[in-house]
Amino acid sequence: MKIDGGCYCGSIQYEADIDPADVSICHCRNCQQFTGSAYRVTVLLPAGGLTLTRGAPKTFIKTADNGNRSVQHFCGECGSPLFYSHADHPSGQWGIRWGSIRQRDQLPPQRQIWTTSAAPWAHDLTSWFGEIAD
Ligand SMILES: [Zn+2]
Ligand SMILES: [Zn+2]
Repeated sequence: MKIDGGCYCGSIQYEADIDPADVSICHCRNCQQFTGSAYRVTVLLPAGGLTLTRGAPKTFIKTADNGNRSVQHFCGECGSPLFYSHADHPSGQWGIRWGSIRQRDQLPPQRQIWTTSAAPWAHDLTSWFGEIAD
């Protein structure tokens, strides 16, 4: 599926070719901190599947407890999270942060990981409070 997207301010834009089956939620503590939210939704894709069409993201190297180093790509102007890639394996998988994708309404998540650290209320938002129209 062809998708495109970018950051909130428009400085960074991209196009990509993804498989809608590769959309996942991560509930890990790091994702909570990086997003400032309860969990992170990411679309995984092979290296080379993504083309920048405008701008260049800033990057931050994150080192996991097991020593794996990942590159967190984000807009240096507005701070929107954009991509993930391996720091030491250029041919490794990339990830696109779901909220940056223009067609995200067509990309529901297919799996969840790190559910042990999930916020207890995050699994069923409708079960204990009503929807408020905006
Ligand atoms: Zn931006
Ligand atoms: Zn995570």
